[in-house]
Amino acid sequence: MGFWASLCPAVFLLLLLSTTLMSETNNTVNQIMKSAPLIDGHNDLALQLRRYFNNNLTGLDLNTLKKTHTNINKLKEGNVGAQLWSAYVLCSSQYKDAVRLTMEQIDVIKRMCRKYDEFNLVTTSEGIRNTTDKIACLITIEGGQSIDSSLAALRMFYDLGVRSMSLTHTCHTPWARSTEERSDIVPPKSSLTDFGQEVVWEMNRLGMIVDLSHTASDTAKAVLQISKAPVIFSHSSAFAICKHRRNVPDNLLKMIKKKKGLVMVNFYCGFVACQKVCNISNVADHFDYIKKIAGYKSVGIGGDYDGAVWFPQGLEDVSKYPALIKELLRRKWTAGELKAVLRDNFLRVFSKVEEVKAKLKNVAASEKEIPLNEITNKSCRLSLRDVFPTANSGHSLWKTVPPAFTIVCTVNTYIVSLILTG
Ligand SMILES: [Zn+2]
Repeated sequence: MGFWASLCPAVFLLLLLSTTLMSETNNTVNQIMKSAPLIDGHNDLALQLRRYFNNNLTGLDLNTLKKTHTNINKLKEGNVGAQLWSAYVLCSSQYKDAVRLTMEQIDVIKRMCRKYDEFNLVTTSEGIRNTTDKIACLITIEGGQSIDSSLAALRMFYDLGVRSMSLTHTCHTPWARSTEERSDIVPPKSSLTDFGQEVVWEMNRLGMIVDLSHTASDTAKAVLQISKAPVIFSHSSAFAICKHRRNVPDNLLKMIKKKKGLVMVNFYCGFVACQKVCNISNVADHFDYIKKIAGYKSVGIGGDYDGAVWFPQGLEDVSKYPALIKELLRRKWTAGELKAVLRDNFLRVFSKVEEVKAKLKNVAASEKEIPLNEITNKSCRLSLRDVFPTANSGHSLWKTVPPAFTIVCTVNTYIVSLILTG
């Protein structure tokens, strides 16, 4: 027998062994993900529904939609058990029609989740737990501009089913600082103003998860110090691995651990590798790092699909999550740790937020209002106080005082008052 002929059986055996090992790993991934279907922290499909279809669901099939990273078939393939759907409106709507546009995004998420049998709209951690053969839909708001500095608007969003909100997007609100500095937006007087603290406490009281992705690190630090409930970063990665301001620095990772919160790792290559191209291994590095600093109980997944453009090779859309789990298994993550990352950590945080709500059930809704002089950006607000000088003036004033409304507009720091009568 020649040398090559004698080598053949050995090569064959090696091939057989590696194929068997591969299919064993795939089986393990499958078992883990079937017993702990993924809860993903951030998906912007609703934004794409606005962008491509003007929120019109008629005439499109979400099972097979091709323009997006997300469709129902891909979610099933990716073993997604619950999705936090982002109701996001652009920062340019701040001080204009942000509240209406946010309601329209909530509306399209609700219509989508009710139209398709594969989805189940939920508002509680129990709702997620009880959704076993469908994909649970949880509504989140991305960016505090959506509430237009109004706690009443925040409460009404809760009533509509919103269960988490990030305090900022890429713009400051008048009460919380963003990671981004924009020349057209005056920053608030501190990273989290008194009113900003009130927003956090009202979210605690309501049972809404505070999301720190997109907030400045000082804002995140201030929230971590005062929040009565654990908080999350719904789609951010580790700053030490990719030094992007959207990522979470070590001091905050340590605070997250102490607070029993969660960092749900973002897959966007810009945050994973600080460049346009990256791979699964680069993503897994963030998981390893956050685990090292904050423990596996602080790690989750918030892919940011349909909200970003450059995704890793091998993690191109929502069907690919199993590939990441496979890589983490290869890196010696245990099945228990992976189940926590996929599902249990988020359920723990959400349940705790609900517990805090239950504890605060006798606390009255906050009636704090943001001081008008803190809305220092271009904004016009109707003020009725000049018309009704006393709190108990009653309806009779409507008859005795001619209708006059004050619209107070602030243009940067200069306050202009317009009196309109009619
Ligand atoms: Zn985002």
